[in-house]
Amino acid sequence: MVQATAAVAREAGADFVLEPVDVDEPRADEVLVRIVASGICHTDVAIRNQDVKLPLPQVLGHEGSGIVEAVGSAVNHVSVGDHVVLSGDSCGHCRHCHEGLPTYCDDFVERNLSGARLDGSSPLKQNGVELLGRFNGQSSFATYSLAASRSVIRIDKDLPLELMGPLGCGLTTGLGTVVNAMKPPAGSSIVVFGVGTVGLAAIMGARLAGCAQIIAVDPKPARLAMAEELGATHCIDAAKEDVVARVVEITKRGADFSVECSGVPVAVRQAVDCLGRPGWAAQVGATPGGIEIPFSMDHMGFGRGIKGVVLGDAAPQTFVPYLATLYRDGRLPFDRFVKYYDFADINQAVHDSAITGEVIKPILLMES
Ligand SMILES: [Zn+2]
Ligand SMILES: [Zn+2]
Repeated sequence: MVQATAAVAREAGADFVLEPVDVDEPRADEVLVRIVASGICHTDVAIRNQDVKLPLPQVLGHEGSGIVEAVGSAVNHVSVGDHVVLSGDSCGHCRHCHEGLPTYCDDFVERNLSGARLDGSSPLKQNGVELLGRFNGQSSFATYSLAASRSVIRIDKDLPLELMGPLGCGLTTGLGTVVNAMKPPAGSSIVVFGVGTVGLAAIMGARLAGCAQIIAVDPKPARLAMAEELGATHCIDAAKEDVVARVVEITKRGADFSVECSGVPVAVRQAVDCLGRPGWAAQVGATPGGIEIPFSMDHMGFGRGIKGVVLGDAAPQTFVPYLATLYRDGRLPFDRFVKYYDFADINQAVHDSAITGEVIKPILLMES
């Protein structure tokens, strides 16, 4: 058993509280990781606030990076001392896992969103009482994670480990949606709604794919400026402009692709309405629970559609190292929109990113 400090989400909307926890010894298919850093993703805050209703209290966090301290008897893809990034868990043997789409694993929800192992137990305890600690296979808002083995991805030791955590969710989601799910032909047009971490990653993906028109849509001018720096060819201020009219004006015939990263219902509708013939919209942002959004079926009839995409349709074990290579080559400069915080300042980091929006990607440093 290892003693750790974890940021516990106890009540809806309340601050995270740093508390001591006991971490189990690894089972056969588990890896003990000393967490060096963890990104904060919008989903963590949405669960803490219960906009997304997963059980509390729980240790959240799903963009962890760290160093392997111990491995279970059945783990052979990582060793003690390896530098690793943590991503979502999957079973590895259902149909979709075999076909390279582990984010649609039969057990995806149970493994990643229950907060527990498949048998219902948790790797974390306080005074002998279990505390949910298996979020997205990892629960990285802690100084140690007992992660599911398929969540643990080895990366090269020359990479800045403290920066790499967001490769496991935000960067994979945005870039993967474009290059894995949409595969836009060179010269095509794409619109990205909401340019936080996921949207900016989609813009960098569109640039890699050779899209000729890359249109960023957001109500925050500072975020549009970052989108332009990273490859957007056009920016639309959603607070001031008629978004659909502007996209049609820029593309002449409507966009070939759109990626909706905000989850705001008005933007979801615009992401479909701005499409040309044919065209499709990827829904990536989490919409409010239970919501229904009407679409014009006259518009849909001409080869247009919308489809949800989870974690960029990526197989994290190969996609995360690919993203690390892009970073090293200077083609994924996401460090430009990262701000580091001490773990103890987690609530300040949430405030600066989720509430004021002045920080795009906060990363918590566990050891400083
Ligand atoms: Zn995330
Ligand atoms: Zn599976």
